[in-house]
Amino acid sequence: MKLFNTLTRQVDEFKPVKQGQVGIYSCGPTVYWNQHIGHMYAYVQWDTLVRVFKYMGNQVNWVMNVTDVGHMTSDEDTGDDKMEKGAAREGLSVWEIAEKYTKQFLESMDKLNIQRPDTLCRATEHIPEQIELISLIEKNGFSYKTKTGLVFDTSKFPRYADFAGLNLDEQAAGSRTEVDMDKKKPWDFLLWVTNQPEHIMKWDSPWGVGFPGWHIECTAMSVKYLGERFDIHTGGKEHKPVHHTNEIAQGYGAFRHQTANYWLHNDWLVFDGEKMSKSLGNNVLVTDLIEKGFNPLALRYLILTSHYRKGINFTWSSLAAAQTAWDKLNKFVVDVRSKTEDSRKQLSKEKEKKLEKFREEFLMAVNDDMAFPKAVATVWEMMASNIPDYDKMDQLLEWDQILGLRLGQETKEEVPGEVKELMAKREELRKEGKYVEADGMRMQIEKLGWKLEDSKMGVKVKKISALG
Ligand SMILES: [Zn+2]
Repeated sequence: MKLFNTLTRQVDEFKPVKQGQVGIYSCGPTVYWNQHIGHMYAYVQWDTLVRVFKYMGNQVNWVMNVTDVGHMTSDEDTGDDKMEKGAAREGLSVWEIAEKYTKQFLESMDKLNIQRPDTLCRATEHIPEQIELISLIEKNGFSYKTKTGLVFDTSKFPRYADFAGLNLDEQAAGSRTEVDMDKKKPWDFLLWVTNQPEHIMKWDSPWGVGFPGWHIECTAMSVKYLGERFDIHTGGKEHKPVHHTNEIAQGYGAFRHQTANYWLHNDWLVFDGEKMSKSLGNNVLVTDLIEKGFNPLALRYLILTSHYRKGINFTWSSLAAAQTAWDKLNKFVVDVRSKTEDSRKQLSKEKEKKLEKFREEFLMAVNDDMAFPKAVATVWEMMASNIPDYDKMDQLLEWDQILGLRLGQETKEEVPGEVKELMAKREELRKEGKYVEADGMRMQIEKLGWKLEDSKMGVKVKKISALG
């Protein structure tokens, strides 16, 4: 397996700490609001990574955190506490907010066929571990106290800026966030916060009553479940300059060495070219896809057609095309399975060779820094080949252990991809003010046996029943 390691800035051959075992830590959600499909992009990619390792015969231990305390609206220790903001917004307690959005996150994961991590660890359930780790960092001389709390002293870790290739002085000069004047350097960060007595979630500690900084939870929990040296740490590319840079510094402060050997970062799923966010109002949830008649696995398919380091531009038409592709693969499996006779024959030498070549190509792609666009192309080459249907189906289902598309579902009431593509086209035409052409799309959809209903909540599609 080859992986692009942010630490070395190159594609490295993966060498596990222990042969046959892989420990992976993924930065998980901050559960203060809904997780949208932009967030889910990362989790689909890392789930697929786990699947590749498992398929290759490794024992995988996948750990993911749930941030339910200490994450400020800015990644740099400033702004409001995200959890408290969520609680104020909805008139719920911080604990209820955490519960509500952890549930929403897990339900979205399930719908996208993302395996549950072996350990899903909540920050608030690991306060003693975080205190212990901070104590170690303090004992090693990597911290100092300010009015705000206990701060990590980055000057003690000379390679602080290396991981993300930061120009710290330039960054600090351009920063608009107010600087804690007690800090020796603007980029020194809080390990434990003590100056917010009104903070709802708080615990006793050697530095006073308070709560942990955001970054310490990931170091504390990754090391607890995977050891002081483990294989892979994943996150979004936005984690490089602050969160992961600080995690690496904390690891060095506590253990004097790197905790994870490979750091993997995904690029983003953007919506019509813009980052998905609540403030822009363009955040789409998995449940929104379902409401529009899509199978969430179409999104999984769409994500797999992108490389995790390139990201993807999500549009409704690209999702509709992905649904058509998924429908085709799914229907193929369903149809072959429903054949009454098993027409399986010994494959000819020529076809056997061809199938072997497809298998090799697929495995080579997924092991080459997860080149899934290539792997998906191989799937279609195999589908278009003269290999008999039964053998195609067997191969497809074997690959599906990695793809996770749950192929072979009976989906009688699903809206066909063709209808969804027409719907997406209609939507675009309407945006452009081309109402006559848009109405043409509606009539085409009706010919296919589906009826559109426009409502304030968007367009709904219903099957025209045989009788009426
Ligand atoms: Zn993290």
